[in-house]
Amino acid sequence: MMLEVRGLSVSYGGIQAVKGIDLEVAAGELVCLIGANGAGKTTTLKALSRMLPAKGKILYQGQSIGDLPVFELVRQGIALVPEGRGIFGRLTVEENLLMGAYSRDDGAAIRRDLERSYHLFPRLAERKLQQAGTLSGGEQQMLAIARALMSKPRLLFLDEPSMGLAPLMVEKIFATIRAISDEGVTVLLVEQNAKLALEISHRAYVMESGAICLSGASAALLHDPQVRHAYLGE
Ligand code: ATP
Repeated sequence: MMLEVRGLSVSYGGIQAVKGIDLEVAAGELVCLIGANGAGKTTTLKALSRMLPAKGKILYQGQSIGDLPVFELVRQGIALVPEGRGIFGRLTVEENLLMGAYSRDDGAAIRRDLERSYHLFPRLAERKLQQAGTLSGGEQQMLAIARALMSKPRLLFLDEPSMGLAPLMVEKIFATIRAISDEGVTVLLVEQNAKLALEISHRAYVMESGAICLSGASAALLHDPQVRHAYLGE
């Protein structure tokens, strides 16, 4: 098991936003977490990547990571692409990518991975010297994903990669997420666009009011009448 979560709870002040959830992601899986606005998806991902204090057990490759600082998670192979992307707007595309490799000291391999990023996202190759803050929304999302990959993650957390993007760009980003998964990176994807998320993932969890209300194979959930009605707008 790559990630095993037991009884994860997160509170903001007195309000419990995540209510003791369990979830797991096997090595090589692409798992999505879907649900309505405010269900607690982003909060869950922030807790798993240690950006928020939480209660419960978080095991990564069998080891508890509940007390590790963020930089140590990155060193151990966990990367987060946050909602809103968090790129460095004043730095160039290439400088942003190199920031993603800050925990590494294998210079030649870093150069190779830089080329791999440009291969994965040719749009970034054309713009390597452009200030990242001037990229379009979709290009910034590509950069955020490419930067996370520069840390050579085994486990990648993605928060709402479709947010604010035009449909064609969303399809492109999702195809790339699938390609990253096919290359062997384990992915946990939080997504508002339930249909696309279910289409590219192996398994899914549905979250409602801070709890997991449904889970299963994505292909099965895509055909589940309850899911179709509540989350696919049918
Ligand atoms: P969305 O898809 O709209 O981003 P979400 O499922 O990711 O929704 P969260 O962002 O995790 O939901 O929010 C879960 C609940 O926690 C919401 O009720 C939200 O208002 C609340 N919440 C989130 N961040 C904070 C905060 N910093 N302080 C107080 N409450 C918060």
